[in-house]
Amino acid sequence: MVAKLPEEEHPKQAFGWAARDQSGLLSPFKFSRRATAEKDVAFKVLYCGICHSDLHMAKNEWGVTQYPLVPGHEIVGIVTEVGSKVDKFKVGDKVGVGCMVGSCHSCDSCHDNLENYCPKMILTYGARNHDGTITYGGYSDLMVAEEHFIVRIPDNISLDAGAPLLCAGITVYSPLRYFGLDKPGMHVGIVGLGGLGHVAVKFAKAMGVKVTVISTSPNKKQEAVENLGADSFLVSRDQDQMQSAMGTLDGIIDTVSAVHPLLPLFTLLKSHGKLVLVGAPEKPLELPVFPLIAGRKMVGGSCIGGMKETQEMIDFAAKHNITADVEVIPMDYVNTAMERMLKGDVRYRFVIDVAKTLNP
Ligand SMILES: [Zn+2]
Ligand SMILES: [Zn+2]
Repeated sequence: MVAKLPEEEHPKQAFGWAARDQSGLLSPFKFSRRATAEKDVAFKVLYCGICHSDLHMAKNEWGVTQYPLVPGHEIVGIVTEVGSKVDKFKVGDKVGVGCMVGSCHSCDSCHDNLENYCPKMILTYGARNHDGTITYGGYSDLMVAEEHFIVRIPDNISLDAGAPLLCAGITVYSPLRYFGLDKPGMHVGIVGLGGLGHVAVKFAKAMGVKVTVISTSPNKKQEAVENLGADSFLVSRDQDQMQSAMGTLDGIIDTVSAVHPLLPLFTLLKSHGKLVLVGAPEKPLELPVFPLIAGRKMVGGSCIGGMKETQEMIDFAAKHNITADVEVIPMDYVNTAMERMLKGDVRYRFVIDVAKTLNP
């Protein structure tokens, strides 16, 4: 007989909302989570942000979804239980979990605090745990995760508006740092003013960088400049505006996940400028090579950030009073929220009030 681990014997009853098929529609769902193991932290979920990936996964648009799927990877809450070998957290602490809950802890990426690039990285939902069970995300009443993947949320960050930092925040913070676009005096373009773009503007401004927002919708100008603090705004379809800004940017963070032309963005870059893609269009983009060669420009990508950098990002956000602009919604509004998100009808992130509105 094989001895069972304690967590197999005493799983926790959990409750959340799940997608059951490709309609992507979510409905109430009962499931179990593992008991708190020695290196685990368990917490009561208070808020969970709605990320575009949640909808892609709910509808199986990337072809990897296993149903039932409980989405959510912008999760914050209060610690309710810690394992015997947990030393960084205690009951009552404010914590969060972002896009991942596990990695191998032994590869080069893991050794470099880049668990996000570990080949065995475990996504927060819809992936397999080391023990073969499926991971469930934050559209649920409780979370259990390895201490290593828990982020401490500083006291002055409001939990509802802070939740989106765990995916949207780190997704834009990490490339600003890694690609050296965080130096005062630099001029950075942010393409797309949605969940990612609006926090990118806030982070870049806090780093002392000059920011230009590039968007297809002229009606976002006022918001970008007056409310978010961008220095200037370009309507990407306006040839004259784009022409006059040629060769002015040191780098661009492109958050757009629809298919779009890259050439106009290359044109905005100075020589040696960098275009960093963080949105993930479903189809390949066309890559004009001449302008890259002529200006020694480069195109790169970036995917969230490691745990060390995620904590650094949250602490930086706390220091500079950065949170997302959010619309807090009840759990049973989630399907409507997804529809509205698809139309870009949200400023700028939906956050589910899980603790108050998730009723078994
Ligand atoms: Zn996300
Ligand atoms: Zn690894």
